[in-house]
Amino acid sequence: MAENMILVEEARDIVLDHVGQMPRVRVPVWKAAGLPLAEDVVTDIDLSPFANSAMDGYAVVAADLTGASEGAPVELDVVGHEAAGHVFSDRVEPGHAVRIMTGAPVPEGADAVVKYEVVQVLEGDGNEGSRIRFSAPAKVGENIRVAGLEAHAGEAVLRAGDVVTPAGCGLLASAGASEVTVHAAPRVGIIALGTELVSPDQVPARGQIRDANSAALMAATVTAGAEPEFFGIAPDDPVAIEQLVLKAAETCDFVVTSGGASAGDYDYVTALVEREGQVLFDHISMKPGKAITFGLLAGKPFLGLSGNPAAAVVGFEMLARPAIRKMRGFSAFDRPVQMARVDREIKKRQARRFYNRAHVERDAAGELVVTEAPSQNSALLGTLQRANCLLKVADGFEGIPAGGMAEVVRIDIPEGTVL
Ligand code: AMP
Ligand code: MG
Repeated sequence: MAENMILVEEARDIVLDHVGQMPRVRVPVWKAAGLPLAEDVVTDIDLSPFANSAMDGYAVVAADLTGASEGAPVELDVVGHEAAGHVFSDRVEPGHAVRIMTGAPVPEGADAVVKYEVVQVLEGDGNEGSRIRFSAPAKVGENIRVAGLEAHAGEAVLRAGDVVTPAGCGLLASAGASEVTVHAAPRVGIIALGTELVSPDQVPARGQIRDANSAALMAATVTAGAEPEFFGIAPDDPVAIEQLVLKAAETCDFVVTSGGASAGDYDYVTALVEREGQVLFDHISMKPGKAITFGLLAGKPFLGLSGNPAAAVVGFEMLARPAIRKMRGFSAFDRPVQMARVDREIKKRQARRFYNRAHVERDAAGELVVTEAPSQNSALLGTLQRANCLLKVADGFEGIPAGGMAEVVRIDIPEGTVL
């Protein structure tokens, strides 16, 4: 390994060490779905606040029905009803029953609910003033959802760091949180470097290419949980690069460039970070994406990716995505990894760690089998579009024989998922 090359894990640790959680912001509770909370949320009331019926039926005193059977039924008088918006505020005395709807508060004195279907109405319409018959006993607590089943007043229903699901948003709402606190989305400045680049709406002249990376990196920014801002294309000119990159560093929380990073290229951007800030690494033992610069510029984290499109996207995945997740308050940074059988030999002629674009699936016997994309050329984006994993081949010269096992990093599945 070249002296200034570091392992992917070391590079990621350096990046993570130089970003912090974003300031807290309040958002409508439903916008917290998919995000970690920045604070515990405590309910101000019992959830639910009152014991309520799990059935449509009659609230009764269970002792009244002791010994009730087909041969020896028990008859009760219906003295009131409980429904949405209508509360029976008296006590249910022995000999009495109250008609009750699902979710309505169980009136005082009653300790069981008998479902409507098994009660025979002898007189009246089943409501107040009716006489009803029971042919079976009831257990104390039957069909009653106790108060505070979900949580008691003063308890945290969700904690800081918990990633909220849609169901969780509902729970937070019932705890009285119409807004919750999360970590703000970092603003990620995206810049393309290269005299040959034209915007996607132009037809490139000979020698020009369309800027593909900015679209890819802005999309990767969004899917990582941040807000991208495109600052444009800078030609390979130190003044133009400095202007654009410093402008981005001033207003953004994280700056990502692509291009101008290969050996032999006009590597103005790394020189700029070196001069105006601090370079923390500039080479990684990784293929694709060896020439990756990370440092601080105007106090902001700066990631300079290689221009080769697949290398730029994989570099973002390995380094910027975990950083963005940390800034947003997530604590899981690792994509799920599986062991899969390689269907053909993977050769290695370089010592760098490989992350080969690949597709993993289960064969007829249910075993995971991984197939590499036919080309690992880092100019190709289609192979990455079609990949569901990156096949990891360890640092060093050892490949993987056909039929051998390899680690695959599932770039199609969120961090922290248990497979
Ligand atoms: P560089 O890192 O500038 O040496 O670029 C390596 C390769 O990636 C060259 O072939 C560039 O033309 C290409 N490239 C650089 N930037 C972009 C971009 N934004 N979109 C597509 N290809 C790019
Ligand atoms: Mg270039």
